[in-house]
Amino acid sequence: DRKVIIAGNWKMNKTAAEGKALVEALKGLVADVCPSKADIVVCPPFTTIAAVAEAIKGSNIKLGAQNIHWAASGAFTGEIAADMLKELGVEYVIIGHSERRQYFGETDETVNKRVKAALAAGFKPIVCIGEMLEERESGKTEKVLFTQLEGGLAGLTKEDMANVVIAYEPVWAIGTGKTATPELAEETHNFIRMTLNDMFGKEVGEGVRIQYGGSMKAENAKELVAQRNIDGGLIGGAALKADSFAALVHNA
Ligand code: 13P
Repeated sequence: DRKVIIAGNWKMNKTAAEGKALVEALKGLVADVCPSKADIVVCPPFTTIAAVAEAIKGSNIKLGAQNIHWAASGAFTGEIAADMLKELGVEYVIIGHSERRQYFGETDETVNKRVKAALAAGFKPIVCIGEMLEERESGKTEKVLFTQLEGGLAGLTKEDMANVVIAYEPVWAIGTGKTATPELAEETHNFIRMTLNDMFGKEVGEGVRIQYGGSMKAENAKELVAQRNIDGGLIGGAALKADSFAALVHNA
């Protein structure tokens, strides 16, 4: 009975005006979704968060950010601190997305620092993990995911894990239109679940929500989320239009 969580990762898309227009349209389209059934989250760029926060007031849409720094403040050009996000009503924070790992030097160690800071400030981190194509093809998927989980979640308590969401995003499926089949995704989600059970105990592990990400859209959402260990999605491209995101939410 894990609650489904569908989160839109807008990445580096949408000005404040564009983001506001998107959620104004989205609000009406998902108003019928009961908040006890599913969490609907949007994660805009930093400069768009305030406008989106204002527009979603009183709706069932929740707010996320795409990064968070571990320091409270200071000389960290280009980064963002917890209280800056708190003030805007942010609830979720995406941490360790593969694009940050690939292009901006994010490591399991920096992921871990960000996760701890996010939890300390009362956010719900969405911790991203996933293997690259060559790792999948050379049979290293489980080793890669295990290392990312061990490193990224190091030092977390069982209580912490109640607020953590894992997003499994195979890098070869991101933005490529190549979705993992529901069977392959479930096999991997099951491995992630077993690893969490080993790390934190079965009671805790079974409660952690594991999202799938990578070319998820309205057409494949239902079959993916129907799998035992797939508890929602982290959506890129299909989250950039109100109608495609709303259709996905309804299908999941
Ligand atoms: P796409 O849905 O565009 O493949 O992106 C997935 C993703 O990276 C979400 O964080």
